[in-house]
Amino acid sequence: MDIHEITSLIKDTDPEIFDLVTKEEERQTSQIRLIPSENYASPAVRAALASVFTNKYGEGYPGRRYYQGQVNTDAMENMVRERAAKVFGYPYANVQALSGAPANLAVYNAFLKPFEGRIMAMRLDHGGHLTHGSPVSVTGSWFEFLHYGCNENDVLDMEEIRRMALEFKPHILVCGYTAYPRTIDFEAFGEIAKEVGAISMADISHIAGLVAGGAHPSPWPHIDIVTFTTHKTLRGPRAAIILSKNPEHAEKIDKSVFPGMQGGPHFNTIAAIGVALKEADSDAFRAYAAQVVKNARALAQGLKKRGYRILSGGTDNHLMLVNVRSTHNLSGKRVAKAMEEVGIICNFNTVPNASDRQKPLNPDGIRLGTPAVTTRGMKEEHMDELAGLIDRAISNVRAGKIPKGESHWKDEGLVKPLAEDVRALAEKFPTFTWE
Ligand SMILES: *Cc1c(COP(=O)(O)O)cnc(C)c1O
Repeated sequence: MDIHEITSLIKDTDPEIFDLVTKEEERQTSQIRLIPSENYASPAVRAALASVFTNKYGEGYPGRRYYQGQVNTDAMENMVRERAAKVFGYPYANVQALSGAPANLAVYNAFLKPFEGRIMAMRLDHGGHLTHGSPVSVTGSWFEFLHYGCNENDVLDMEEIRRMALEFKPHILVCGYTAYPRTIDFEAFGEIAKEVGAISMADISHIAGLVAGGAHPSPWPHIDIVTFTTHKTLRGPRAAIILSKNPEHAEKIDKSVFPGMQGGPHFNTIAAIGVALKEADSDAFRAYAAQVVKNARALAQGLKKRGYRILSGGTDNHLMLVNVRSTHNLSGKRVAKAMEEVGIICNFNTVPNASDRQKPLNPDGIRLGTPAVTTRGMKEEHMDELAGLIDRAISNVRAGKIPKGESHWKDEGLVKPLAEDVRALAEKFPTFTWE
């Protein structure tokens, strides 16, 4: 029995949803997915999501539930918490947060009162997350944020961050990003937080799999609270984990998640987190994490060689930002749309040190990452081939204003052969492999 047989159970009950699931699977197989926050979860993770744990309610925590019948859910949640603690080296783990955004809000809510709390984090257009105090997120309206950014070399300046923290005196100092290609100096962040009396928090959503696999330094023991999504480089289900160092913090966080913000935990998701953590605690996963970084370096190198400007000059992790305005006079959005037409999926992204034309919905850059293609088994040589395909797409996109009704391609004739080459590369690889 394989995962397709589980999926096929949808067919008779709901042919419409089944049809879309089938089409999405075909898309994920035939296209090359370079969105750095996406991945392919293993069949075992997906099977756990489909398990009978979805049938159970259990508000509260193991041993302290509001419903009976918790013999297996208690054992399971305890096991998953222990695995999280072991893989990341922190003593306390909450595995109930429904996703990354509520996990971050749960941390702020654990320690701060609305309209009284001060938090310092990275600005959104330099790689921070919406939940790091964007005005369109409740985090930005409930708490007072001061944002730091990258310097003229597109990297964090720890001295400047320290100076800002000494002045602002945040209650929480946040590091960890959605679009930052360099290693995070957790020790320096931890020291600044200590110096100003703040709780240090690392949102390692993007790099959790790299940390688990030893391909990025760990926040332990420098950072007090660690949040992360489990569905990005960690390759688990869509959910989040919150780690903490000391028992008082852990207790406040548990209360903030439930009953503070959520009702019953999603036990099927927690079981799937457990499977992902078991997978992550293996030599095969450590090899995967190392390969993700090698592939990102190779892709960045392949693009640099072809004349692209990679922010900060390269990458230490799984992602890179490419400023396509500065080299090709194109907006990231036009490039991302054109790339989709040939089967390469990325996202447009704001970049630091942008032109004055950059807007959130029409930024100067694109963001590319290697977690998904690495799960398929691609290696460095395929990254150079991929850089060539990306270059064939981008160098065929027209710059400047395009009159209504006209194509954004310079030469329409090149599009189909390119799309065929992209598909051929993608279909050489399965969507999930431990090789
Ligand atoms: C993805 C991400 C989140 C949000 O996670 P969701 O599961 O989409 O809510 C939060 N912080 C960072 C840094 C992220 O990359």
